Amino acid sequence: QQTSHFLEFSTVIKENDLVLAWLTRDNTKPIRPIKDGAFHTRFGSFQHNTILASKYGTQIGSSSSTQAGFIHVLHPTPELWSLSLPHRTQIVYTPDASYIVQRLRIRPGTHVIEAGTGSASFTHAMARTVGVRGRIWTFEFHEQRFQLAAKELEEHGLASVVKATHGDVCKNGFTHSCGDTLDASAVFLDLPAPWEAIPHLTTVISKSKITRICCFSPCMEQVQRTIEILQKNGWLDIEMVEVSCKRWEAHKEMVRKPEDAIERLRDIKRRRMDGLNKRNARVDAERATLNLSADNADTDSATDTDRGKFKKANKSESPSSAEFNPWGKGKRIHEGEEGYEWKNVSKVEAELKTHTSYLTFAYLPPPMRVHEETINCD
Ligand code: SAM
Repeated sequence: QQTSHFLEFSTVIKENDLVLAWLTRDNTKPIRPIKDGAFHTRFGSFQHNTILASKYGTQIGSSSSTQAGFIHVLHPTPELWSLSLPHRTQIVYTPDASYIVQRLRIRPGTHVIEAGTGSASFTHAMARTVGVRGRIWTFEFHEQRFQLAAKELEEHGLASVVKATHGDVCKNGFTHSCGDTLDASAVFLDLPAPWEAIPHLTTVISKSKITRICCFSPCMEQVQRTIEILQKNGWLDIEMVEVSCKRWEAHKEMVRKPEDAIERLRDIKRRRMDGLNKRNARVDAERATLNLSADNADTDSATDTDRGKFKKANKSESPSSAEFNPWGKGKRIHEGEEGYEWKNVSKVEAELKTHTSYLTFAYLPPPMRVHEETINCD
């Protein structure tokens, strides 16, 4: 059986393995290193041979003489894949994906139905969770998207876990050619009209287990129509959720006093003087080489006296570079270092990249078993 980097971890990078090159926080690129190949970026060129001689997670330096950039070569995960995959559609991002997987109680071995496949971002997230014992039947009616997704899943070693099917689930239901009984206990619908697909689910979901569903819709009107049809088809505990994900950064900030502000103003003044002194010294040196007239030299010597004062004053006031200066140059203090006063602060970063949609959840209990009892009337 083919191994998948999305299902198992390996430390060694082999030729043609999928490697995710982390360039910046917003820029991760998939590469397949081959002997003597190169990866060219605006941060420089990176030799595939260096990547092949490294382990996943390594920082690689650019081989360009003019650019000293670096990248990190990372092991594929569904989270990183969703940041680097070729977009064919809108996709489900990690904040939604992780929430949906846990709400649908997708676990190793779970059977899932998904429509549409789109860019297969969410398919990868589910595949990692269901693992080799699970199954995902994913449906896509756009032929080219279906073909690209099927090829990608094959290349990622996921073809035995994910069965991609080309078909319109709203018109034809979840018809497939693999001959398996789907027996799905989780359903994920990311379609413009999930209410047209929901009635077709009855024949393909589990007859023995509770089935959980999530419909991913960007408009409230779609949510309303979905809820109506879920109710009509016996789905229970219907709930709509919107995931709003923010990143909070917490750190310590040094407590600064009014004296620090005064020290800062002094520091600015000192630096200005320093700059003036340096500039004047340069001008003097230039004039000396040009051998200027005696008149000019007199004026200059008067100015020099003043400058001497500045220099002296400046020198006596400057803090040594070994001292801590809260606003200017000086000793570097590490966050939280002892001997200083710190306060805890937090700030919120801009909203994380996510395709905001409404998530409609519900569950359907398995059909009741009717026990036939023969009543003896004698
Ligand atoms: N969840 C996917 C992901 O994370 O990459 C993105 C899905 S994309 C937003 C919706 C997909 O549903 C599109 O590729 C579209 O072609 C497909 N689709 C729409 N209606 C469909 C239908 N009736 N049957 C099958 N696929 C359908």
